[in-house]
Amino acid sequence: METFIISLFIFFFTIERIVSYGLAELNIRYLRKHSNSMPDFFKGSIDDETYKKSVAYTFDKGKLSRWSMTMDTIVTILFLFGGVLAWLEHWSASYGLGEIWTGIVFMVGLGVILFFIGLPLDLISTFRLEQKHGFNKTTPRLYIADKAKETIISIVISIPCLYLILWFMMATGTIWWVWAFCFIMAFQFIMLIIYPIFIAPLFNKFEPIEDCELKDAILDFCKTAKFSVTGVFRMDGSKRSTHSNAYFTGIGKSRRIVLFDTLINEMTTQQAIAVLAHEIGHYKLHHIKKMICIGSIGLLAGLFVIGNIYNYPPLFNAFHLEPTNHAALALFLIMSKSFTFYLTPIFAALSRKHEYASDKFAVEQTNGKEHMEAALLKLTKQNLSNLTPHPWYSAFHYSHPAILERVKAIREIKARRV
Ligand SMILES: [Zn+2]
Repeated sequence: METFIISLFIFFFTIERIVSYGLAELNIRYLRKHSNSMPDFFKGSIDDETYKKSVAYTFDKGKLSRWSMTMDTIVTILFLFGGVLAWLEHWSASYGLGEIWTGIVFMVGLGVILFFIGLPLDLISTFRLEQKHGFNKTTPRLYIADKAKETIISIVISIPCLYLILWFMMATGTIWWVWAFCFIMAFQFIMLIIYPIFIAPLFNKFEPIEDCELKDAILDFCKTAKFSVTGVFRMDGSKRSTHSNAYFTGIGKSRRIVLFDTLINEMTTQQAIAVLAHEIGHYKLHHIKKMICIGSIGLLAGLFVIGNIYNYPPLFNAFHLEPTNHAALALFLIMSKSFTFYLTPIFAALSRKHEYASDKFAVEQTNGKEHMEAALLKLTKQNLSNLTPHPWYSAFHYSHPAILERVKAIREIKARRV
């Protein structure tokens, strides 16, 4: 049985790696092929220099992601077959703590190792890649402060959560995973309320939008779209990077729309309204609720799987581990990626469908095809997004449609009001 488990995992893992590397390689080659000639579609709206910059940026990002994939492969192999997990298990048991605290020491140890493995690539990404292409505004001091805050928050949040989950596993019998599910759902719900109000402000400043023209336009728009605004905020994203974005977050009283200052500074009022309308579209069209539902089904399925294998001895024997609850969690965390990977294109396709629908909503509500299009092109320029992703790559990975398809779809929308 042990051999079967190992072979099954290696089979899925190998195909996953081949597909990942293959798609990334295709994407880079496609980029190289188009690197000297921008698609005619963009002529007039994007200049050659920006195009060249976007090619160079995508190319460098591709190189870094190749490194990160290789690192991931090595880490998975070392953890499962190189004895790292077994060593960690031995080490955490050596303190002679109770079952739950041994589990916590084990999981925290795992987290620390993964943090330090990921750190060099994170540093290279911020201070080399983003710096080289003119995006980075993070100083080393801010970087360290961010990491310190993230560490403290994750300790404060994850240790009690881990304690409870390990306790459910120990104390509530074979249906522990149902309890764990209810707890995680409640926790996520609370986080939806807490995050925008208490956690996000630790990293950024959020100010209600005061600019009169924009503010009036926002209020006007919300009235026509019958959307009660609880807050539209400007976030000082420019303190870390010149990348620009907008997002919708929170629930109930903490529900809010956040526009990056980099976006507000670059866009006209009507373009900013188009972006805002798109975000409200996600809410109005129930995309957020749908995604939360799908996420919970995924979570329940995952917990059901762990619930059924967590005391199956051959699984632990296969990787030379003791059959403990924390080892089951760690195995699941490391191995499940190779299986859930195959669902990526399905979720990406669903997310792209939502993006098209939200664009349509925004255009219809604002009667502003050209503003939506201009806003998207500005975002594309500002973020130096890849204008020519390989169709297979974007179909598999892209949560947002490639810009060319997106603009084409916008042009085809029939305005409702004239
Ligand atoms: Zn969207």
